[in-house]
Amino acid sequence: MVKCSCGKRAIIYVKVKGKYMCEDCFLRYFERTALNTIRRHKLIDKRDKIAVGVSGGKDSLALLYFLNEHFDNEIFGIFINEGIKGYREITSKDLRKYCKRFGVECYEFSFKEEIGMTLDEMVKRGRLKPCSYCGVFRRYLLNKKARGLGATKLAMAHNLDDEAQTILMNLFTNDVKRFMRLGYMTGIKTHPKFVPRIKPFRLLYEKEVLVYGLLKGIRVTYIQCPYAEQAYRVRIAHVLWKLERKYPLLKYNVVKVFDPKLRELKERAKDEELRECKICGEVTNRDICKACEFKRELKIPIS
Ligand code: SF4
Ligand code: ZN
Ligand code: ZN
Repeated sequence: MVKCSCGKRAIIYVKVKGKYMCEDCFLRYFERTALNTIRRHKLIDKRDKIAVGVSGGKDSLALLYFLNEHFDNEIFGIFINEGIKGYREITSKDLRKYCKRFGVECYEFSFKEEIGMTLDEMVKRGRLKPCSYCGVFRRYLLNKKARGLGATKLAMAHNLDDEAQTILMNLFTNDVKRFMRLGYMTGIKTHPKFVPRIKPFRLLYEKEVLVYGLLKGIRVTYIQCPYAEQAYRVRIAHVLWKLERKYPLLKYNVVKVFDPKLRELKERAKDEELRECKICGEVTNRDICKACEFKRELKIPIS
């Protein structure tokens, strides 16, 4: 039996610490890491009203649970139903069950009602990959709805694996602007219409978030989005997974090595002007926001 340094039976190997840990020591480590991330990067203020972007998956439910347990701020979930047949019906069931259990309000919005078309319909009509429409409209609605509900922060369950994947994706596509979505808190400049996004789990591996959730009684149906196979992110995740097996801590090192560079990039981007979309009035760094551009392409009437 592998033991924790405290003598109890170990349940997980925590790579960053190079240690096997028992349930109690792991829970302490996990919560301390997330709380330190929040404190060190000033992610949450006492007056913040926090919206959590939830999908019904293990990561976002673990984040909702964690924030609700540790903070007295007003906290609620925002769920965006993209309209993916055979997928979202299932994750939304888990979501409602756990929100009820945690006693947290969850607001639901759908692409169909808010944008005018489900993601499945967009995929049939459009020429882009499903994740391109999905990501743009989801980000658009999350910001708009979080702001509409009075949130001052939008918490996302991005973990270390997600962050390392995003860094590599952006590097491989040389997409400097997208680097601004990285970091503990995204948003370079403040704009009254932009709700800053925070990532309390940014230094925790996906597996650690999963184990934390399981230890807290979160058991969701595992189901993959039918479009995931086409996702660039999934390919990058696979490459990283393979590499990390050979080189432990590779993902952690990708994030850590990149952080000083990110600060520099954000500093440079400070001059970039944030403005309101000429069509919908949402915040963007272009004249017409990406959501309106996609709506045009998909021939969705723009109101
Ligand atoms: Fe959306 Fe792509 Fe994720 Fe599916 S895999 S939920 S289409 S971003
Ligand atoms: Zn222990
Ligand atoms: Zn717009």
